[in-house]
Amino acid sequence: MARRSQQNNPEELRLQLLDLLSNFENNLKLDDLRQRVRGLVPVFNTLRDLGSSMLPDGESGRDRILLYLLRFPFTVIDGQELMVVAGIDDWARRVRELRVEHGWKILSGVTVKDIVQDWLEEESIIPIDADLELMQPDDYILLDANQDREAAHRWKSANRIRKLNLSIKDKILLFFQENIGNAISGEELRYIAKNKTEWARRVRELRTEEGWPVLTKTTGMPELPVGIYVFASNRQSPKDDRAIKDDLRRAVFVRDSYTCLDCGWTAHQWNRSDPRNLEAHHEIPHSKGGQTVKENLNTLCNVCHDVRHRKK
Ligand SMILES: [Zn+2]
Ligand SMILES: [Zn+2]
Repeated sequence: MARRSQQNNPEELRLQLLDLLSNFENNLKLDDLRQRVRGLVPVFNTLRDLGSSMLPDGESGRDRILLYLLRFPFTVIDGQELMVVAGIDDWARRVRELRVEHGWKILSGVTVKDIVQDWLEEESIIPIDADLELMQPDDYILLDANQDREAAHRWKSANRIRKLNLSIKDKILLFFQENIGNAISGEELRYIAKNKTEWARRVRELRTEEGWPVLTKTTGMPELPVGIYVFASNRQSPKDDRAIKDDLRRAVFVRDSYTCLDCGWTAHQWNRSDPRNLEAHHEIPHSKGGQTVKENLNTLCNVCHDVRHRKK
């Protein structure tokens, strides 16, 4: 197969392309199908060179994809744009490498769809950015302009866990437990679930049914972007306070301004050396007939929450 030129002068490439296309007029008149097709090969290659010449600093297709995303962070980018600047056939694989192996927080439309679908099943009314909701499977968005330094460690951990003979929920929990306090993207969780769309539902079950502190934008850490998850600590909330639906818990947190009623700790103070999280606590215990309704729920940090339960 004909190799591509290494030129990156856009204007020269444009002229070459025009030339090739006007010569193709003769090929079109040929009876031989293969000759017609082969006449188009240099046109394709030159067009790709023209696309990759848009970002001449990127040495590889993967570099150019990254450079382009970094120019437009927090913006929904059509995969076709990445195809143009990458100038290579397997651009989609390079995007996957960037987001899974290299730790760039690039969320794909497919993963966003899983998340939104899970919210709809839960009948949660969660404010989602209009941009994200309109994302097509082939769209991408860069959520953080910095590379995640622990990505290499997580990539190893994800690959090992992915192959274990466990349920998807247990695999995701194990991955969280090995990466406490890290910002983990939905892409990684989807990868561990071998791309099964149920990953989003399993994550919700870990939080709402089993009481694990899986924080997201809408479940305790409002400053996180959609699609990023933080496992705050390896501790389940007290049994009596589990089975609280996400949107009810969020309504309680919002009412209490994301602040612990007892000590005043707020979700904005979260840091890795003091990794607390907010929980909803039944004022009248559920076991004593207290209802799981907003009026009977209070916001507490996990430290104060444990103190309250010990007192009982
Ligand atoms: Zn507290
Ligand atoms: Zn409680």
